[in-house]
Amino acid sequence: MGSFVFTEAEPGFIAFAYIGWQPPRCLDLKAVLLRQPGRSGGVGAEVADVPVPEIAPGELLVEMMACGLCGTDVEKIRGEYTASLPILGHEAVGVVAQVGEGALDFRKGDRVFPHHHVPCHQCYYCLHGDETLCKEYRRSNIHPGGFSEYFRVPAWNVGKGGVLRLPQGIGFAEASLIEPAACCVRALDKCSVGESDVALVVGAGPVGVLHAILLGQRGARVMVSDVSEGRLRLAERLGIENLVDAKAVDVSEGVRKLSEGRGADIAIVAAGSPQAVKQAAGAVRPGGKVCMFGVPPKGSMMDIDASELYNSGLTIVTSYGATEKDVTSALDAIGRSRDRFSQVVTHSFPIARFDEAMGVATSGSGLKVVITP
Ligand SMILES: [Zn+2]
Ligand SMILES: [Zn+2]
Repeated sequence: MGSFVFTEAEPGFIAFAYIGWQPPRCLDLKAVLLRQPGRSGGVGAEVADVPVPEIAPGELLVEMMACGLCGTDVEKIRGEYTASLPILGHEAVGVVAQVGEGALDFRKGDRVFPHHHVPCHQCYYCLHGDETLCKEYRRSNIHPGGFSEYFRVPAWNVGKGGVLRLPQGIGFAEASLIEPAACCVRALDKCSVGESDVALVVGAGPVGVLHAILLGQRGARVMVSDVSEGRLRLAERLGIENLVDAKAVDVSEGVRKLSEGRGADIAIVAAGSPQAVKQAAGAVRPGGKVCMFGVPPKGSMMDIDASELYNSGLTIVTSYGATEKDVTSALDAIGRSRDRFSQVVTHSFPIARFDEAMGVATSGSGLKVVITP
């Protein structure tokens, strides 16, 4: 039997506690969740015990095997990202643990990539090729997120073709690159990169090197710039040629050398800073394209001379997210260069060591950081 006592939890507050009381034993999985607003400690993430999600008809319960830590997760944790629901982890792959009634295409034990955002395929935006701008796209998600031992995939995602079965032979760490690589594929398709195009990638982080590998597969001549020597060294190990240290070298001059003095046909900005966009604009040839891929912080402004922009015939292309078509192409691309893609993952940490994973991801001392159960 327990006994009642008064405890002083916080100055000025008397808490009433029943000693001997135990929490109900339904808290049985670990997940990294965003700290709720108003909780002590401010914004951030925490490893929490949450109940195993219950699934409804048409849904899947997936046991997570790997989930990449994305730059947007870092932004969400810092309270800087507001583009979609505040759910952490969207690059998850795993094994189907339970199949909801009626989800006939899947079996327990299937190795899958469940896409967190799935469009409706019917609205004006979907029918005009802008599926990632569909209202339903950002509304859909996996629960409680990808950094969870188990997560629920809603019937919407399952029914609309958002769950991809992984072929034999692809490892979970490589497969966790499907989502970020699919976003890159979409951006490159939007820019219609052609064979022998000269492409500049601004930023040698995980997404920058994914772009470089995919551009190489398409036959483009690639140059990657970064201000971090460490990241350039890591990119070098992946066999990426033409790496430039943007602190020491004028990037636009370097690109001109590679393109008979013209400038790049396309520059991909794999960084969120408006300065990087400006730098990219200065490095492309007249009539070239700048792709804004990295997510700029809310409210950040860009100062570009409008008359120069007009006279240079430049096209600015933005790209957000990926569709199932992009996901399929990404899986195919990973399959064609497995060695190189697998080297993009430089670190992995279990859920319980999420803080360390954040440390590596924000220090730039590695490329892709992956969370495992
Ligand atoms: Zn991502
Ligand atoms: Zn739609």
